[in-house]
Amino acid sequence: MSLPDYEVFAIKYAERVGTRGAIFIHGDPHEAPLAMDYFIWVIRNADRTIVLDVGFSAAEGKRRGRTSLRCPAESLRLIGVDAKDIEDVIISHMHYDHVGNLDRFPNARFHIQDEEMSYVTGRAMTHKPLREPFVLSEVMQMVSAVYTDRVVFHNGDEEIFPGISVHHIPGHSRGLQSVKVHTKRGWVVLASDAAHYYESITDGTPFQIHEDLYLMLEGFRRLRQLAPSDDHIVPGHDPEVMARYSAPSPDLEGIVVQLDQPPHG
Ligand SMILES: [Zn+2]
Ligand SMILES: [Zn+2]
Repeated sequence: MSLPDYEVFAIKYAERVGTRGAIFIHGDPHEAPLAMDYFIWVIRNADRTIVLDVGFSAAEGKRRGRTSLRCPAESLRLIGVDAKDIEDVIISHMHYDHVGNLDRFPNARFHIQDEEMSYVTGRAMTHKPLREPFVLSEVMQMVSAVYTDRVVFHNGDEEIFPGISVHHIPGHSRGLQSVKVHTKRGWVVLASDAAHYYESITDGTPFQIHEDLYLMLEGFRRLRQLAPSDDHIVPGHDPEVMARYSAPSPDLEGIVVQLDQPPHG
C-alpha cells in the first residue's frame, strides 16, 4: 500500500530581532542584526490533522521581549482548524516557545520523547543555565498530562501515523524530536529546533542554546540523512522559510506558508 500524502503548513506567530553574536556561537564580531521567526506547524490530510508545537504563551513571550503577532492556537483558524478538535500534538521539545499553549488543546494527546520528559524533570534542571529556556508551570502541565493519560511517549525514531514519523535529535535539548512527513513532493523534514536556521544545515553554524554541542552538530548531519535534499528540510526559526515558500492563499501572505509545495528559487 502506498503512503498517504499530507499538506504541511508553517504559521508564523511571533518574531524578534537579535544579533548574530547572541544567536550563534562564534557569531561574527560585527553584531549584525539577525531576525528570528516563531512558528507552529500543521500536518493534515482527509484522515487526520496533527499540530507540531504550540508556541509560547502571550505572558512568557512578553516577559522575554518577543514580538507576538497572533495567538498560536487561534491562528489555526486561518487554515480552517479548531485547536479544540485536535487529537494529536507533537511536541518537538519543552522550550517555552514550543509548549506555551498546551491548555488550548483540551482534547489532544501530546507526543514527546522519553528523554525530554526525564531531562526537564530531572537532575539537569538543578543547573540554572540549563533550565532557563523552560517554564516550570509548563513542565507541570505536561506532568499533569502524564497523569491523565494524555501523553504518548516515544523512544528514538518511530512512525506515529502512516507517513508521519518522529526522530530523536538531541543536542539543542536532550529529547528534541524532528518530524518527517510524506507529501506529494516526497519526504519533508520539519526540523523544529534541531536546526534554527538554514545555515546550520548547510554550514553547520552552531546555535547558542544547547545542552550538548557535539550532538547538536551531529544533528545537523542527521537532518540531511533524513531528507531527500536540503530543499526538503524546514528549519525551526528562519525568516527565510517565509520567503522560500508560498502562502496557501493571497490573504495569508506573510503569515502562513505551504511546505508540501516545492520552495521557489
Ligand atoms: Zn528550543
Ligand atoms: Zn524554539
